[in-house]
This record gives sequence, C-alpha cells and structure tokens, in this order.
Amino acid sequence: VDPAGSLVHALRRAVAEAPDRVCLAYFDARLTHREVDALSDSVAGHLAARGLRPGDRVAVLLQNSPHFVLAVLGAWKAGATVVPVNPMYKSAEVGHVLRDGEVAALVCTDRAWEAYLRGTAAQSPVRIVLTACERDFQTRDDARVLAFERLPQAPDADDLVAVARQGHPAPRGTDPAPDGIALISYTSGTSGTPKGATNTHANIMHNAERQRTTLDLPEGPVYFAMAPLFHITGMVCQFGACLNSAGTLVLAHRFEPGVVLDAFAEHRPHYTVGPATAFMALAARPDATPDHFSSFRVISSGGAPLPPALVEKFRAGFGPYLRNGYGLTECTAPCASVPPGREAPVDPVSGTLAVGVPGADTVVRIVDDEGREVPFGEQGEIVVRGPQVVPGYWRRPDATAETFPDGELRTGDIGFMDEQGWLYVVDRKKDMINASGFKVWPREVEDVLYTHPAVREAAVVGVPDGYRGETVKAYISLRPGAAADPGDLAAFCKERLAAYKYPRQVEILPDLPKTASGKILRRELRSRADDN
Ligand code: ATP
Repeated sequence: VDPAGSLVHALRRAVAEAPDRVCLAYFDARLTHREVDALSDSVAGHLAARGLRPGDRVAVLLQNSPHFVLAVLGAWKAGATVVPVNPMYKSAEVGHVLRDGEVAALVCTDRAWEAYLRGTAAQSPVRIVLTACERDFQTRDDARVLAFERLPQAPDADDLVAVARQGHPAPRGTDPAPDGIALISYTSGTSGTPKGATNTHANIMHNAERQRTTLDLPEGPVYFAMAPLFHITGMVCQFGACLNSAGTLVLAHRFEPGVVLDAFAEHRPHYTVGPATAFMALAARPDATPDHFSSFRVISSGGAPLPPALVEKFRAGFGPYLRNGYGLTECTAPCASVPPGREAPVDPVSGTLAVGVPGADTVVRIVDDEGREVPFGEQGEIVVRGPQVVPGYWRRPDATAETFPDGELRTGDIGFMDEQGWLYVVDRKKDMINASGFKVWPREVEDVLYTHPAVREAAVVGVPDGYRGETVKAYISLRPGAAADPGDLAAFCKERLAAYKYPRQVEILPDLPKTASGKILRRELRSRADDN
C-alpha cells in the first residue's frame, strides 16, 4: 500500500482486489467496490461538466449514507476539496462555511434544500447543487430513522443518485495529490467564528494506514459507522480506514441505539468507534446482549473523556474492552491510542484513564507556558508533531501561526505523560465544551445571545452532566428595564444554532463576575455551577 496516495487510490486498489465485495451496506441496500467506483466516477464527471475545477470546494451536508460517500469520492475524483458540514447546522452556521470556504458546489438532502439551504446558498458562491433523498438505495421501511418521503426534484438542483447512475466518465488528470487539501474541517475555536482545518490526503492516509497495520482485523473487515462521517473521527477511522482495507462499511443514517443493535446482529461488525456516550446509550438498552458485541475485534472510544467505570461496566456486561483514543480535527483524528492487546492504566491520583500512547512517527510533548518540556508526571499543554498534523487553517495565517508554531500543534488540552509513555488528558486550557463528543465554543453561543435585545452580558460555560459529560450553560445579565425568561433565551439560541450547541440551562444574574479590567470571569462561573 502506498501511504502517500489518497482514498481515491485506495478505492481503486479495493476494486482490483475485491471488486464484488460489499463496500457499503445501508439498511437493505448493498453496493460493491466496483459499483461505488463507477457511481462516484459519474458524480465526478458531472461535477467537472458543470464547471467544477480541481481545487474548488464541495460542501457535503449529509448523514451516514451511501450518498455521503459518493459525494465525497466524486468530489475528490474531480480534484476538489470536500467541506463536510454537520447537517444539524442552522442557516447562519452553514452560510458562514459556504462563504468562508468559497464553496462552489453543495450536496445536501432535498428536504434541507427546500427548507432553508436554497436561501442560504443564494447568498454564497455556490453555483452547483446536488440534492439527495436518503431513502434512495434502501427500501426497508425503517420509520425509526427514515420517516420522510421523496420530494419532487427541485428545478435548481440535480439529483445525486440520478447523476451517479448516468454513467458519466470520470474526468482525467484530476486525481488528488498527497499534499492536496482533502478536507476543510470547520471548528469554532476561541474567536467564535469557525475556521477550517485543512486535512491533506496524506494526513488522512497516514491515520487510515496506521489503523490498517496496527489493528488485527480479518481480511475484508466489516466496519460499523457509529460516529458521523462528517466529523473527522468518522471520516478517517471509519470510512478512510475501512476503504483502505477494502472492507465493508455499514451505514445507518444517524445514531439510534435500537437501529445500531439491529445492525450489529445483522452485519456482525469487527470494528467501530464512537464517543463514551454512545456506549452508555447502547449499554442502557434493555435488549442489548453480549451477543450483539461478540463479533467485534476492536471497539474504540474517542473524542471525549472515557470514564474508567464505563470501561469496566461495559466489559462486565457485554464483553468488549473499550479502547481509548485521543485526537483533534487538527491532527486528522487520532494521535494517540491504546495499542491492541494492551490496556490503558488509570492514574491513581486523578482517577483518569490514559488515552493511549503516541502513534509511530508522532511526537507528543508536554510543555509549560513558555514552551519548555516538563518532566514525566507533570502537567502541561499537550503539543503534537507528526504526519497527521494539518498544515494549518484555511486562509487564516494568524490562527495558523498561533496554533501551529513551527508546524507543531498546540492542542489546548492539559495532560501529562507517565514514564511508560502513556498519555493522560486531564483538563483544557481552551474554553471548549465537550458535550457527548460534540464540541461547543462559548464565544459562538455568546455571540448569538448578544443579539437578543434583552441581553446585557452573556457568558457560556460547560457544566458537568451525567450523560453528556458536559452540558452548555449560559449566565446572563439583563439590560436595565428589560425582561426575559430563561426558557425564551434558550429557545432563541436553539433557533439559530445546531441543537447540540444551545444552552440547556440558562441562569439570570443581576451582574456577571468580572476582573478589575472588566473581563467576565468564566472560571468563577464554572466553579459556581460546580457548587450548585
Ligand atoms: P478524536 O479524533 O479523538 O475523536 P475529535 O475528532 O473529537 O477527536 P475535535 O472535535 O477536534 O476532534 O475535538 C478534539 C478535542 O476532544 C480534544 O482537544 C480533547 O479536548 C477532546 N478529546 C478527544 N479525545 C479525547 C479523549 N480520549 N479523552 C479526553 N478528551 C478527548
């Protein structure tokens, strides 16, 4: 395998090795590697014929479905960069990404196009639109996930599946180069305005290849896509690693515990990855049995802290050991994980489970505020250097210089390394809130709250939550004479932000605590929440 290639090259290898092996399974639909290759060729041919040029950006807003995979492979085959967008995003959030990424083509569901994306795209550079009805490719009437009907084809968009079946030849000479940008993955960050991490094809192939060579999975492995593919973990550790092993990827639209268990029973997967909350949700199902998990060789947990008690509970109840892994969008998913056959130790002082050991070719260091390396066991910021670290942020030299000084990624996570080389993540320097693995940046929520006429001051913090790990809480002070109800303020945010970002709790205070210079004391609010 040539790790310097791309997933387009990986697909071609899969077609050569196992053309008739199922590449994608989606409810009762099956597509072989040969079919996925031909269908994505046609998508690429269509995009090129519509004027998409190598280097142009294609935004994809879809759940885990064959449509997602065909859109991504089609865009890459046309030499384009994919901008994966969470389909939960509301109009303003998508609008920012379309404009900042200077996106030329958009792939979304027919429902989202009709409901709000047509209007959003009109104020953006988007000039090519493909819509998808996620009911296509599957006929089983699973009302739990796909309770919607096909809409009449919009006059200002083409149907993705029809285009894929038209048999357009793929454009020539547009294969991705290893250092070409495969993805622009938007993450919010401290500024409140999301910025795009530029994951190259080589970044993706490094992690996909590492997974193929370290995990002892059978030939033609079956992967279950539990994490969303629009998120870097799902994209790389599921779709990328599976395709790179010529495996079968089982897709189930979105995480619904009952549907997931049925898929485990039917497809007998060997590998999956998800955040700790996904495993809590599965373990809480009364119908979950050890049989559901008996086919797995490896189950990984990543993207959020993994409580050691959950690992033990899961093993006692169902058998598998949940294998921790740590990473960021900026290092194309994992940079440290628990090697197969070993178990992560628990730090006796903090009770934290180790996240793993750094991968081969990856250097993880712990540094103090001056950037000096600290001794084993001492806490500091985790910094990462390796072939999976992105070259920077899209058109943001300032943010790139700040986060990647000298090419090394400053993670904003606080951790330590023990003498055996195990890495522990214990805290965060950055303000990010981690709710079930979904990342929420306070500034983005605060910016929305400040547009409410009654709000004088707003501060958003993460507060502990038994299920999500953390949940979003807003502290508000009101303008003199203004009145607002906490429920109304939450609803105001819910209308404007993806559902996982709006504050589940809103507390109104006469004044927010501030420093002498007038800066709101977020830490004080956080500890106030802890005391309650
Ligand atoms: P991963 O690649 O591990 O799944 P991610 O895809 O969720 O991470 P981001 O959404 O960029 O990537 O979030 C990265 C942040 O998630 C990290 O900076 C860290 O705060 C947190 N994180 C990721 N993995 C772990 C873990 N195993 N334990 C604790 N925190 C984690």
